[in-house]
Amino acid sequence: MCNTLTRRHTKYEREVISKNETHTIVILRRRCKPCNITISLLPSFLKPWQRFANHFREIAGRWHLTGRSLNRITASLSKSGISRRTLQRWKQKFHKQLNRQLIRQRRKIANDDATADSILLQYRKGLTAREELKILLLTFRESESYPTTRQAAYSS
Ligand SMILES: [Zn+2]
Repeated sequence: MCNTLTRRHTKYEREVISKNETHTIVILRRRCKPCNITISLLPSFLKPWQRFANHFREIAGRWHLTGRSLNRITASLSKSGISRRTLQRWKQKFHKQLNRQLIRQRRKIANDDATADSILLQYRKGLTAREELKILLLTFRESESYPTTRQAAYSS
């Protein structure tokens, strides 16, 4: 995008499911004339084109990590109206993102001498996926960005 200030454009209403209720919220749109794009300002708790607020995805992801079955997760979230199929799709996406993030972080750790030396032995002995995840989470630095998809704004 260029450095032109965007201008107020239109707005639209959207339904958001949070907890067990449906809310209607207003989404403001901004426009950049030179670039000929419109940007929707989404709140941080929403992903583009999603009806369910992000905390559902977050809790489902956490439950996947703790080994809770898809059937149990579906039952736990039944009041929200999220289907098993949707949860299945989220699970696949979640694991894809997680794996990508793990690869990135492995690379970072391998390039950081101090950290690499301290955990090399553990890698040589062999790690389960769970043990490695624990190490990667422990060595996660706050300065690094979290593994998220773009959610602050999107063009349409
Ligand atoms: Zn522009």
